Amino acid sequence: MRYVSTRGGAPVLGFDDVLLSGPAVDGGLYVPESWPRLPPHELDGWAKLTYPELLTRVVAPYVDGALASSELGRLAAAAYAGFHHAEVAPLVPLGEGEWLLELFWGPTLSFKDYALALVGRLLDEVLARRGRRATVLGATSGDTGSAAIEALRDRPSVEVFILHPHGRISEVQRRQMTTVTSANVHNLAIEGTFDDCQDLVKALFADAACREELGLAAVNSINWARIMAQTAYYVWAALRAGAPRRQVAFAVPTGNFGNAYAGYAAASMGLPVARLVVGSNRNHGISRFIETGTLSIEEVVPTVTPAMDIQVPSNLERLLFDACERDGQEVARLMGRFREEGELSLPAEQMATVRRLFSATWLDDGAIRAAVAAAYRELGRLIDPHTAVGVAAGRAHRTGAGVPLVTVATAHPAKFPDAVEGATGVRPELPDWLSDLLAREERMEVLPNDRTVVESFIRSRAAA
Ligand SMILES: *Cc1c(COP(=O)(O)O)cnc(C)c1O
Repeated sequence: MRYVSTRGGAPVLGFDDVLLSGPAVDGGLYVPESWPRLPPHELDGWAKLTYPELLTRVVAPYVDGALASSELGRLAAAAYAGFHHAEVAPLVPLGEGEWLLELFWGPTLSFKDYALALVGRLLDEVLARRGRRATVLGATSGDTGSAAIEALRDRPSVEVFILHPHGRISEVQRRQMTTVTSANVHNLAIEGTFDDCQDLVKALFADAACREELGLAAVNSINWARIMAQTAYYVWAALRAGAPRRQVAFAVPTGNFGNAYAGYAAASMGLPVARLVVGSNRNHGISRFIETGTLSIEEVVPTVTPAMDIQVPSNLERLLFDACERDGQEVARLMGRFREEGELSLPAEQMATVRRLFSATWLDDGAIRAAVAAAYRELGRLIDPHTAVGVAAGRAHRTGAGVPLVTVATAHPAKFPDAVEGATGVRPELPDWLSDLLAREERMEVLPNDRTVVESFIRSRAAA
């Protein structure tokens, strides 16, 4: 498979180079040159496969030319072996024709483990073959950082630097990162906001010398490999909910639009997806875009769903690329306008294509708490506030009882215990394997929001 930039002005790359690169040099994001098709006659048989076996079938065309499918299978088996549920990604009934896809059985309790466990193995494999090391650099508002650290700890090929906003993430989230004391893991607590962290990371990636000398690699969802790994659980869940004989709808709580876009990728591969319902919190740039066709910049407000406190969803650019019939120059023009004027709009015909698949809803904190409380009262289930956004959004756009609705549960309730307890009166408990988390020793470096200081810290410890 070859990969092209959404802005049409960067070299075409193979999978291994896309895996190791950050954004494309023209500022765009890499996407596959064409969508591979799921084989319609084999899908029935795929329902019997284990999760890593199914992932290998779904993902193999995307790594073609870089990895043989037998190697991919070996890496996938290893990636999910330590997950804490026999099925890896169980689909559990929620109500009449409604299901919850539980993606919180990985080591750090969020769906980000499902992508990063595989991406970590892929990075290690590709780097080992090249006899190279890389410096993985990322900013986190909580969940990406811990999943990346867990996936990359003690891997000989990488040094990992994760920036988080000092004092602005939950204690569970912080400790899931700072209690990992592997020598190749560096937690940088930045005196600033998540946006400041993200700006520091972007500045280092944008500096060609820095990128080259440090061998920078990205682990946020601008990295195509993350999206690719996530397409697997859409296929997995759909096969369990009645596909390929029936269409299946999905509801997805959204921040950077990576998870929902992976659902779109699965649909583009031929999975019978009736609808993708996107749920947002008060930072509802993406929902407004789907409803109105216009994306505009607004200030980020903190909510009970911090992993979704994002106004400008990076992966929307990948959807725009298809909506613009893969015209990179048109996407470059739209994104240029967005940068200059803080607003971009798609014409009505193109929005009609987007809305054939996508619907959107947003919830304020009161409505999110009410959705957490309702799930407990009516279904006897504790769900985390991000998942609750998905459940409520899915119900708001229910297409009818004949179409099964799968909500993607993105975090374990114990990852956000205060919000869950506030809504239900019940404090969710951490699973056994994390029960001593609050007692473990922490290690992190507190640094000012200053590019020079951060860069020299990284340089002094980076992979050569
Ligand atoms: C990251 C995250 C999200 C948002 O996912 P995107 O791919 O950024 O849309 C939702 N819920 C939780 C718990 C997360 O960690």
